[in-house]
Parts: sequence; C-alpha cells; structure tokens
Amino acid sequence: MNAQGAQAGQGEHSGHEVAAAAAARAGTRLDPWFSSYADRAHGMRASEVRSLFAVANRPEVVSLAGGMPNIDGLPLDFLAEMTAKLLRERGARALQYGGGQGEEELREQIVEVMRYDHIHAHPDDVVVTTGSQQALDLVTEIFINPGDVVVAEAPSYVGALGVFRAYQADVVHVPMDDDGLVPEELDRTLTELARAGRRVKFLYTVPNFHNPAGVTLSLERRPQIVEICRRHRVLILEDNPYGLLGFDADPLPALKSFDSDGVVYLGSFSKTFAPGYRVGWALAPHAVREKLVLASESAILSPTMMGQLSIATYLSTYDWYGQVKQYRSMYRERRDAMLGALAEFLPECSWTVPDGGFYTWVTLPEGLDAQAMLPRAVTNLVAYVSGTAFYADGQGRDHVRLSFCYPTPERIREGVRRLATVVHAESEL
Ligand code: PMP
Repeated sequence: MNAQGAQAGQGEHSGHEVAAAAAARAGTRLDPWFSSYADRAHGMRASEVRSLFAVANRPEVVSLAGGMPNIDGLPLDFLAEMTAKLLRERGARALQYGGGQGEEELREQIVEVMRYDHIHAHPDDVVVTTGSQQALDLVTEIFINPGDVVVAEAPSYVGALGVFRAYQADVVHVPMDDDGLVPEELDRTLTELARAGRRVKFLYTVPNFHNPAGVTLSLERRPQIVEICRRHRVLILEDNPYGLLGFDADPLPALKSFDSDGVVYLGSFSKTFAPGYRVGWALAPHAVREKLVLASESAILSPTMMGQLSIATYLSTYDWYGQVKQYRSMYRERRDAMLGALAEFLPECSWTVPDGGFYTWVTLPEGLDAQAMLPRAVTNLVAYVSGTAFYADGQGRDHVRLSFCYPTPERIREGVRRLATVVHAESEL
C-alpha cells in the first residue's frame, strides 16, 4: 500500500496530450458524438469490476471478484407480506414522489441505526440517497472543482475512485497498514500538499472492514485522524457500509462521533439488509446537508419512496439486528474458509485478516502481475479483482482483492485452489 507522491503526475502532460489526441481520432471514428462530450466524460471508464461481472457470473467460474452481498438468508415470505400490506394500506404514498431529503419516518430510524456507531444525530441532518454511491456522487459534486485534491487511502474503493475521476479530482493516496490509515503519513501528505499550494477538499476513508484492504482503523488512531484533518481544515468523508458486519465485536466509534462538524458520514442498507432497495444516507453538518439536498433534488427529485417505506417498515416490524447477526456468522464462516484455503494453497502470498466485511487483500509473490494474470485465472475458472482497480495511478499490480461474501465455503476453497494453480504456473514462467 504505497503512497502516491503529492507531485505525481506532473511533467506527463505532453504524453497525455499525445495519447488524448490519438484517443480522439479513434473515438471519432467509433462514435460521431465523441468530440461533443464534456471533458469529464472522457475520463469515465468501465470499472474493472463491472466488466468482470459477465464472466464471473458463469456458473463454472468461482467468483472471488464481486462485492455482492449474499442475501439468501433474507426472510422473503415476510418481505412479500410486508410489501403487499404496504401497498394496500399506504400505496398512494409509497407510489408517489416524496421530499428531496427523504422520509422523516426513515430518517428517524437511521438515527437509531447510527447509535451502534456511537453517533448521536438529529433526523434533520440526514439525507436519504440512492445507495451510498449516490451520496458519494453528491458530496463530490458539491465540493470538487476540476484539479482539486481528494486524499484517499491506498488502496481505495473502486466506485469512489470512479466518482472522483468523473468530477476531475486529483486523488492522492496515503498508505495504510494493518491498523488502517497511518496518521503520520496523512499528516505528512497534507503538509506537503499545502506547501505545494494544492487545494485539498476532503479525506475519503472507509474506516471499518475496508474495501478492498480488509483492515479496520484502530480505536487509538480514530481521534488522531480527526485531529489531523481538523488542523489542516480538511473535511472527512467517512464511508461506512460494512460497519455492522464485524465478526467478533460491536462497531468502534465512527470518526463522526469525534467531530460532528468536520465529518460527512455515509451509511447504507445494502450490506446489512439488501442492495436492491437502493437506500443509503448521508449525515452531514447542517449547511452541507442543505447543499446535498439541493444537489440530490436536481439529480433525482426524490429518493425511492417504495424503497424508503419498505425499509422503514422492515426496521420497525422485523428483528433486523437479528438478521445482521445472521449475516455476521455467515460471513465469518466464509472468511475462515478463505483464510484457511490461502494458508493451505498459497503460503507464499501474504494477506490481511479482516475482522468483518467482505474482503481480503492479497500480496502476490514478487514479480507477478495481477492484471496480466487475470485472463489466465478466468481460463482456470476463478475470478478476482486486480489491485490496480483500487488506485488512481496504476499501482496495485502486486495485489488482488478476494471477496468471500458470495460463494459458499466449499466454493471459496475450490476458488483459492484454482488461483494457486495459476499463481504457481505464473511463478514458473
Ligand atoms: N462504499 C463502499 C466502500 C462500498 O463497498 C460500496 C458498495 N460496494 C458502496 C460505497 C456503495 O454501496 P451502495 O450504493 O449499495 O450503498
């Protein structure tokens, strides 16, 4: 997890311009509207994860690639009943437009959910969004001018990097270790950026069960990170979709719980309930919250009413925390299967040991290239995500992200065994 130098990328403009001109010539041949796109559209690329979905979904392939939650344990009969009742009794509301900020009844319950993260919030400061992905988009939209800096962990969630790229932010990575983001490195990077006259708009961080690194920011470091950002006047964007999915302990206090004014906190029901409802949220300082609502209204008018009322009903009528506990024990079993198989089949690699969430981050033996190896892995019927997807600057070839959320423990073991065959064959080349 190396740092990207604050000055990285400088001096490469002529190369970029030549490449851009070549891309423009090729693009115009394929797409008559190519020269009409806004600059930011040219920076948009299919995520490495998305382009894998088609292959990884073939039944013969063991996919250790996707971050799809395993929703097999959901109480579908209960949800069917609940939905029928919702439509019968409150259909006129559930099928209508709603307010831009989201339904108060749900925002009140979200405040209760965030108590597990030691956050004491007011429903007025919550904005309901279309998954936390939309919240990432909204926060970036209201803060980022082209060329502004976003500081982010090395590595970082691929979907956030895509948003930052779309708004033409420069991402500067800061290293992590087994205890998460390294405070001294953050301080050093922010100091260097300030000296270089760069405008840093926010720190993007996933403190719990990091995607893709699998690590968790230690309790000791949490107030330190908050203090460093406060000192440098840098907002924190805390993204916490996995926080309730800890295998052994209750969640650590969120960064938001240390500094209400300096942190925008993002939550989601995608991993603790079901992603299909597409409901997440942002908890923001008052003025930021107002901007988020305006930005969201112009993007989507209002978040899904059907989704919001369904989740509000589920939270108030079902033992949702019991469901979360079931997820935890299922994912713990899968994590154990993954780590056991790695120790058995790939002892020459190293990997992080996640205490929750979906992912482990594997370091390949020296000289192997995760991106180049991927087609051979897929031929060998196993898929992963190359580490390069999680950096803004092409680092990560020596890493793969393996997810243990979706396949059964037996399939995970088989997938790692197949991966080991590929790694061993590559090592001999
Ligand atoms: N942040 C992180 C770290 C994620 O892993 C994901 C989903 N993979 C999201 C945000 C977006 O999730 P959703 O939009 O479903 O809430």
